[in-house]
Amino acid sequence: MAKQDKVEAKMFYTHIREEDLELYVLGRLSPKQAPAIRSHLAKCEICKNKLTEVEISKVRLADLGKRQGSEGKMALRRNS
Ligand SMILES: [Zn+2]
Repeated sequence: MAKQDKVEAKMFYTHIREEDLELYVLGRLSPKQAPAIRSHLAKCEICKNKLTEVEISKVRLADLGKRQGSEGKMALRRNS
Protein backbone atom coordinates (compact mmCIF):
# COMPACT_ATOMS: atom_id res chain seq x y z
CA MET A 1 0.00 0.00 0.00
CA ALA A 2 1.81 3.09 -1.21
CA LYS A 3 -1.09 5.36 -0.47
CA GLN A 4 0.41 6.45 2.83
CA ASP A 5 3.36 8.09 1.08
CA LYS A 6 1.15 10.32 -0.99
CA VAL A 7 -0.80 11.49 2.02
CA GLU A 8 2.37 12.35 3.86
CA ALA A 9 3.78 14.25 0.91
CA LYS A 10 0.62 16.28 0.75
CA MET A 11 0.68 17.05 4.42
CA PHE A 12 4.26 18.15 4.18
CA TYR A 13 3.34 20.65 1.50
CA THR A 14 0.76 22.57 3.41
CA HIS A 15 0.19 26.22 2.82
CA ILE A 16 0.88 28.79 5.45
CA ARG A 17 -1.96 29.37 7.82
CA GLU A 18 -3.48 32.83 7.94
CA GLU A 19 -2.59 33.25 11.58
CA ASP A 20 1.04 32.52 10.76
CA LEU A 21 0.92 35.08 7.96
CA GLU A 22 -0.34 37.60 10.46
CA LEU A 23 2.51 36.81 12.79
CA TYR A 24 4.88 37.17 9.86
CA VAL A 25 3.48 40.59 9.01
CA LEU A 26 3.74 41.62 12.63
CA GLY A 27 7.27 40.26 12.84
CA ARG A 28 6.30 37.91 15.63
CA LEU A 29 7.21 34.59 14.12
CA SER A 30 9.62 32.50 16.10
CA PRO A 31 13.13 32.40 14.62
CA LYS A 32 12.51 28.72 14.03
CA GLN A 33 9.41 29.31 11.93
CA ALA A 34 10.42 32.37 9.97
CA PRO A 35 12.88 30.80 7.50
CA ALA A 36 10.44 28.05 6.52
CA ILE A 37 7.68 30.55 5.96
CA ARG A 38 9.93 32.88 4.02
CA SER A 39 11.10 30.12 1.70
CA HIS A 40 7.53 28.91 1.19
CA LEU A 41 6.48 32.45 0.30
CA ALA A 42 9.29 32.66 -2.24
CA LYS A 43 7.85 29.69 -4.10
CA CYS A 44 4.13 29.92 -3.55
CA GLU A 45 1.99 32.46 -5.38
CA ILE A 46 -1.08 31.50 -3.37
CA CYS A 47 0.48 32.30 -0.05
CA LYS A 48 2.14 35.40 -1.45
CA ASN A 49 -1.24 36.75 -2.51
CA LYS A 50 -2.67 35.85 0.87
CA LEU A 51 0.20 37.60 2.57
CA THR A 52 -0.52 40.74 0.58
CA GLU A 53 -4.14 40.62 1.71
CA VAL A 54 -3.16 40.18 5.33
CA GLU A 55 -0.61 42.97 5.00
CA ILE A 56 -3.16 45.36 3.53
CA SER A 57 -5.70 44.66 6.24
CA LYS A 58 -3.09 45.16 8.95
CA VAL A 59 -1.91 48.41 7.42
CA ARG A 60 -5.47 49.57 7.10
CA LEU A 61 -6.16 48.80 10.74
CA ALA A 62 -3.03 50.57 11.91
CA ASP A 63 -3.84 53.49 9.69
CA LEU A 64 -7.40 53.72 10.91
CA GLY A 65 -6.07 53.98 14.42
CA LYS A 66 -3.76 56.80 13.47
CA ARG A 67 -5.83 58.86 11.09
CA GLN A 68 -9.35 57.78 11.99
CA GLY A 69 -10.04 56.52 8.50
CA SER A 70 -10.12 59.78 6.60
CA GLU A 71 -7.30 58.72 4.30
CA GLY A 72 -7.60 54.96 4.50
CA LYS A 73 -7.09 54.44 0.79
CA MET A 74 -3.70 56.08 0.81
CA ALA A 75 -2.42 53.27 3.02
CA LEU A 76 -2.81 50.81 0.18
CA ARG A 77 -0.03 52.39 -1.81
CA ARG A 78 2.74 52.91 0.61
CA ASN A 79 5.98 54.18 -0.82
CA SER A 80 8.48 51.41 -1.27
ZN1 LIG B 1 1.49 28.18 -0.08
